[in-house]
Amino acid sequence: MPGVTRRINRLRFATPYLILISVCCFGCEEAQPTSPLQVEATPTEAVSVPQTDVKNTTKPNVMPKFNPLTPEEALVILDKGTERPGVGEYTTKKDPGTYICRQCNAPLYHSESKFESHCGWPSFDDKIAGAVDRHTDADGRRIEIVCHNCGGHLGHVFEGEQFTPKNTRHCVNSISMRFVPQGEELPPMIQAESD
Ligand SMILES: [Zn+2]
Repeated sequence: MPGVTRRINRLRFATPYLILISVCCFGCEEAQPTSPLQVEATPTEAVSVPQTDVKNTTKPNVMPKFNPLTPEEALVILDKGTERPGVGEYTTKKDPGTYICRQCNAPLYHSESKFESHCGWPSFDDKIAGAVDRHTDADGRRIEIVCHNCGGHLGHVFEGEQFTPKNTRHCVNSISMRFVPQGEELPPMIQAESD
């Protein structure tokens, strides 16, 4: 059986080469050098970030230092609410004096301009010059009046009602004002800071 013998001899001859090749490949994998790009891991350390001293940091006060308001006052003056009719402390007041803004002390109305309208709120047919600004109300119908200096809500103004010769009614919430009797010194006005 010369063919069989020749195949066995060929295997005997080839086997050492097969072993050598496999060892070489295996060895190559094992001997793979460490990549030169691999860098040594740096130990992690807690980085100390300088902390700002919040206790001594003062926030710049950009708001004017108006008179502090009670929640009831703020509801009308800042949130444009309306006092219930007939409950305001100045509705029927007739004393001579000046009505000033409760938030910033700006003089708004003289008592000579006050008249009885029976509407339930203090009524004036004129304001102190330059003290009151008018804006169209959010409802688009009424005219809102605000303090010219601080923008605090005062009430609404109506015209053409024929209450007085001036034909104007400033319908003002008592809680938006403070009354200073005649002869008493007016407190200084707290100026709104300009931008
Ligand atoms: Zn004001």
